Amino acid sequence: MGVGAVLVTRRRIARRVAALAERIAESFGDEEMTIVAVLTGVLVFLADLLRRLPTRIRVEVVSLSSYPGAAVQSRGPSFRLWPVGDLVGRHVLVLDDILDTGQTLACLLDRVRSLGAASVRTCVLLRKNCPRVERVEPDWVGFDVPDAFVVGYGLDHDGLYRNLPDIRVLEAQDDAGGAP
Ligand code: 5GP
Ligand code: MG
Repeated sequence: MGVGAVLVTRRRIARRVAALAERIAESFGDEEMTIVAVLTGVLVFLADLLRRLPTRIRVEVVSLSSYPGAAVQSRGPSFRLWPVGDLVGRHVLVLDDILDTGQTLACLLDRVRSLGAASVRTCVLLRKNCPRVERVEPDWVGFDVPDAFVVGYGLDHDGLYRNLPDIRVLEAQDDAGGAP
């Protein structure tokens, strides 16, 4: 496996994150916001978005894994870390990197609602064009992307490539070295 073509450039990402922050800030108005962010892929997106949001914000992080190790097919979400503080009466923004099968977001929405949040809104950086296992539509989407495995801007494959500034497609490597 190796990194292939750029799918979303760093400039487009920066512009879109700024626009998303405006919409989200408008929606929350004066309400204090609690971001529940899904590690680890959301790390860079969270850092960029956070600094563009003017409202009073708390940040909680949770960790789920759908693609353990070198997997490129979802194995379904499993919680590895749930250290979220008291969500009773809070206005929550669930932030995730990618909407794929929808299982992660559906699972989180259930959990956050059951913990007594006053409202729950959702934002994902990427929405894949593929069939959903769970019907869930985020309130805000950064980019619609094709159903390919992507890396960069926080997204990994087997722990690597999170530091790439653009979002790229992961490609099977040509061992003969003859790829164009
Ligand atoms: P879902 O539960 O919607 O199927 O899975 C979503 C999660 O799987 C995302 O939060 C993300 O962490 C991971 N994921 C889905 N597609 C990709 C992908 O193309 N690249 C990477 N790095 N992670 C992905
Ligand atoms: Mg994730």
